Amino acid sequence: MNSKDCVLVDTHAHLNDSKYARDLEAVQARAREAGVDAIVCPGIDFTSSRQAVQLAQASPRIYAAVGIHPHDAAGVAPRAWEGLRILAQNDQVMALGEMGFDFYRNLSPREVQEDVFRRQLQLAGEFNLPVIIHDRAAHRETLAVLKDFPGLPGVVLHCFSGGLRMAEECLARGYYLGIAGPVTFSKSEELAGVVKNAPLDRLLLETDCPYLAPQPWRGKRNEPSYLTAVAEAVSRIKGISPARVAAVTTANACRFFRLPVT
Ligand SMILES: [Zn+2]
Ligand SMILES: [Zn+2]
Repeated sequence: MNSKDCVLVDTHAHLNDSKYARDLEAVQARAREAGVDAIVCPGIDFTSSRQAVQLAQASPRIYAAVGIHPHDAAGVAPRAWEGLRILAQNDQVMALGEMGFDFYRNLSPREVQEDVFRRQLQLAGEFNLPVIIHDRAAHRETLAVLKDFPGLPGVVLHCFSGGLRMAEECLARGYYLGIAGPVTFSKSEELAGVVKNAPLDRLLLETDCPYLAPQPWRGKRNEPSYLTAVAEAVSRIKGISPARVAAVTTANACRFFRLPVT
């Protein structure tokens, strides 16, 4: 993909992960070189949320989201809530998340996951911020909880893994679908069907790095510059030019996260 005419936004990149501790600057330089102009960095607990905010304060095109991942729900100290509330008021915080359910690994008890999920949705409503949702093997439960919070300014199901019917329900509710590396895998017909059917103006592109590197880097450490492979897969599936995928999904990201347009 030609970086000169295609500007992309990586809407979900864990640059606050320790896997980038040694070479974050090089990772950011490669992202810029690939045309990935802006990056949204989510938190998974209080500490990583604070790191996301610090990163965003240090780099003009990195934006933060603050939140508690369902894996970390059981370990939330009561004072972390006050900390999260203070972080959320930062100018560089564009969303709350990631938050949600993970019934695949179940690292926190389900009822604790739900409580922590609901508290964050409430906070998002209070601060009028969009939310980044993590849903793994909990599609029905995720939709049920979200139904109780209809007034949020934006909802994205990041690294969308639901089927066609769930995608339809999400789109009908006005949610966005986050499309990540799995769209480049050969055995992802269901996700390809979701991408084909969804309106382009409801898709957000993401790497979810350091996880889920797209082909041809599958199995390696992922990074924002690889987002071009996700955009190319979407362009192939929808039969439209990579430039159009870039233009529309970047506009989507700017609208969803209220990013300043350059
Ligand atoms: Zn996630
Ligand atoms: Zn994530």
